[in-house]
Amino acid sequence: MIKESNLKPDAAQFRETVAAGDYFLKVVKAGQTFRILDLEGNQAADTLFYSAEDPSERYSAMDTIREQGNAYLSAGTRLRSNHNRVMLDIVADTCGRHDTLGGACATESNTVRYDLEKRHMHACRDSWMLAIAENEELGLSKRDITHNINFFMNVPITPDGGLTFEDGISAPGKYVEMKAQMDTIVLISNCPQLNNPCNGYNPTPVEILVWN
Ligand SMILES: [Zn+2]
Repeated sequence: MIKESNLKPDAAQFRETVAAGDYFLKVVKAGQTFRILDLEGNQAADTLFYSAEDPSERYSAMDTIREQGNAYLSAGTRLRSNHNRVMLDIVADTCGRHDTLGGACATESNTVRYDLEKRHMHACRDSWMLAIAENEELGLSKRDITHNINFFMNVPITPDGGLTFEDGISAPGKYVEMKAQMDTIVLISNCPQLNNPCNGYNPTPVEILVWN
């Protein structure tokens, strides 16, 4: 569902550009609203959420999809934890559809899907592992890398129940905005994938904005 935001970028308390292939990590406090802005279009933002109070509580694709009865995420979606509590609400969305079934790219899946020689290529899972290694104070480890949301990524379900990575439906300036219902660790890998159309074969920066 397309829903525009009333928030003004100039009034944001925090703004940061995340380079193509880089990660972003920040605690968003309950009541704050944050936006992921697709600056140049067709850029997947592979995102994990954890409760800042207890990171063993984290985003759950199963609970989110089951409770809303819809496999796709957009404005109106309540993003739920593995304790079935609402972590964040998607309050605005000008892209209209986000994936939470396709998973993040990894060197392992790149070799299975594309070629053994792709093993050395930079992948979202590597960016997340780097983020948790560089931020030990969060107490996250490899076991905490679980299912995620691929914002701006177009992964339609086929009539026979398969998944396909299709050309993106996002475009320059499209955004998705969430209001936190609990203090939430936001961990984004700005996807470096070059083997499928999720980034238009050209990874580009995204911008993060936070309003109090
Ligand atoms: Zn990726």
